Amino acid sequence: MELLYKSTRGGEDKVKASEAILKGLACDGGLFVPEEIPRLQADLKQWKDYTYQQVAYEVMKLYLTDFTEEELKECINRAYDEKFDTPEIAPMAEADGAWYLELFHGATIAFKDMALSILPHLMTTSAKKNKIQNDIVILTATSGDTGKAALAGFADVPGTKIIVFYPKNGVSPIQERQMVTQKGDNTYVVGIEGNFDDAQNGVKKIFADRQLAVCLEEKGYQFSSANSINIGRLVPQIVYYVYAYLTLLREERIEEAEKINVVVPTGNFGNILAAFYAKNMGIPIHKLICASNENKVLYDFFETGCYDKNREFILTSSPSMDILISSNLERLIYRVCGNDASVNRELMNSLQTTGKYAVTDAMRAELKDFAGGYASEADTAAKIRNLYEKTGYVLDTHTAVASAVYDDYVKKTGDNTKTVIASTASPFKFGRSVLSAIDPKYDSLSDYEQIDELAKVANVEIPKAIEEIRSAPVVHYHICGKDQMVEEIKKFLGV
Ligand SMILES: *Cc1c(COP(=O)(O)O)cnc(C)c1O
Repeated sequence: MELLYKSTRGGEDKVKASEAILKGLACDGGLFVPEEIPRLQADLKQWKDYTYQQVAYEVMKLYLTDFTEEELKECINRAYDEKFDTPEIAPMAEADGAWYLELFHGATIAFKDMALSILPHLMTTSAKKNKIQNDIVILTATSGDTGKAALAGFADVPGTKIIVFYPKNGVSPIQERQMVTQKGDNTYVVGIEGNFDDAQNGVKKIFADRQLAVCLEEKGYQFSSANSINIGRLVPQIVYYVYAYLTLLREERIEEAEKINVVVPTGNFGNILAAFYAKNMGIPIHKLICASNENKVLYDFFETGCYDKNREFILTSSPSMDILISSNLERLIYRVCGNDASVNRELMNSLQTTGKYAVTDAMRAELKDFAGGYASEADTAAKIRNLYEKTGYVLDTHTAVASAVYDDYVKKTGDNTKTVIASTASPFKFGRSVLSAIDPKYDSLSDYEQIDELAKVANVEIPKAIEEIRSAPVVHYHICGKDQMVEEIKKFLGV
């Protein structure tokens, strides 16, 4: 049966999966959602020995119903290959009673690789299916990790170009270096003078700019999005929650049908939304624990039912979670208001004009699967140090936020359900903060000395992604004001 996608704001006809992937954002500013969340069709036990690629096929085929088996398998095989440093793709590590689902074994050592290694293939396949002649121009705002993962995914993919905007002073030195050394004639990287929300709002405006779209069309270009609002990002992220559950079954850590909790360090709400979809597909998940850093808009939302971004934006040691507008939350809001696009649209308008909205009690009741928590900078550092001292396992700062929130959750609720914590970055990506948490004596070392030190401390090899940037030349020097993004795009495309 064909699964169609509709906009959360109701202003667009239903589209096929391939069309939703090409468009990214719906024309009315809404996000595409499947008409319904499909259910897994097999007894999970039968899949417990499946490879990651096999699980990916079983899950994704339920969403991408207009892809042929051959097309989808080709996308999966091109994405989840030797770019990952383990054939398991998403292995799990047990430490201090929780399972860390390591989503950082791809090309850029952060979880965005899980989706961005397959998105370019989903997109070029979608273009072929829809007889698109234009080059696809990927426009991305990044808080750090998306940018590099998207660049790595799209670099030199024929028929595509990619432009990445990042907050000039809002990403780690390693993240910035990863991006500005990106090879590929079809890549363009620009630092903007503003924060992540400025970059994201700028990109949203550009997507809504009809005049610019017409101008590009004449030159044979069309925009698409690699941001986590693209359904082609969301769907591949569901896979690893299914795979994680199957791993626990295979290793006999859980009984058949036993429920688990999932903790996710959250920013734009894409990763945890994928876990929510997995739950609704039939994976036995009890609570979805949404972990925030000091930018705790989501925590406050789950506590009070009021989403309010009117507050100070705080730069933390987990920059990929420094976000005040969690775009993907709109998909959840739409669902909990009973798939009523007009209610959702009103709330999103309110967010746009006043910076806040409040949901009704009935809607709040629908959020009962979620628990919110947040960790301060001090809690996060203490968690890295304590877990390291107890077990030798080293967390990155984002994962440490989730782990600290989980400790808090257990203390408050006494809920001892077995738990998977999404581990979203390699500690090497945020080495300075990680080492400083373990012992401030490392603070005086240079970035590269720290990498060598971290390898010793954590007793793991330096990832290839880090080795490479030590010697790579900087090739992108562009910086612009937050109101000059369109000019930068035109400059690069020569229009
Ligand atoms: C993007 C990112 C997050 C946040 O994920 P969302 O899907 O945006 O909620 C958390 N940790 C790391 C390391 C990331 O790169």
